[in-house]
Amino acid sequence: MFTDTHAHLYDGDPNEIVKNAKERLVEHIICASSDVESMQQAVEIANQFDGVYATLGIHPQVAETYDDQVELMIRKLAKNKKVVAIGEIGLDYHYDGPDHELQKQAFLKQLKLANQLRLPIQVHIRDAMEDALQLLEKHEKLLSCGGVIHCFSGNLQDAERIMALGLDFTIGGVCTFKNAKALQELVKNLPLEHLMLETDSPYLAPEPVRGTVNESKNVVYVAEKIALLKGVSVEEVAQKTQENVKRVFKI
Ligand SMILES: [Zn+2]
Repeated sequence: MFTDTHAHLYDGDPNEIVKNAKERLVEHIICASSDVESMQQAVEIANQFDGVYATLGIHPQVAETYDDQVELMIRKLAKNKKVVAIGEIGLDYHYDGPDHELQKQAFLKQLKLANQLRLPIQVHIRDAMEDALQLLEKHEKLLSCGGVIHCFSGNLQDAERIMALGLDFTIGGVCTFKNAKALQELVKNLPLEHLMLETDSPYLAPEPVRGTVNESKNVVYVAEKIALLKGVSVEEVAQKTQENVKRVFKI
């Protein structure tokens, strides 16, 4: 059995996606949100399906929308038993998005919120690794509920700093891409005890279905690639990643 720890189900037809996923033994899906609208959608979808859960958070690309009112909304929605993490939160310097200081403030406020709500975090870092690591290290006390770095794209030293903070990684379709040699090397070097699976669907469909609309069922291809890279069976990847999901997301 597998868990897709990061899917944007509201961008597709959740009925189809959940059905297709269960046929491939993807029993759990965590629907990640990124703004006010998707938070409400994620909770609604999680309420509709067994095995589907939600995260609540304001993505760094819309960091300027995080205010007291949004925080209050997250607090209310987080009372729902299907809410398992605060995310996607983090830093993204890739696009001309919100000012970096503003992103850091929204990130820190949501780290504090996650800690108060006793929920793990789901972190998005793009072209901002050093700033994100420094912020996380400075506020290590807020990380007592753990969490994951999603679609991790750093090097081994970055990964070691993240593991030292008690955080883990969710690995997606990029690790199956032919040109992703650095990530593949990294996956070989990271202990399975720190890895979980994700799709980030509908984006980033893995090989051999790269270029199609991604769905949670394709998380199995990610598991197969990780098994190949690490020289273990797919069953072992499934079992270990499930244990990690249980430990971090309590599902
Ligand atoms: Zn995402």
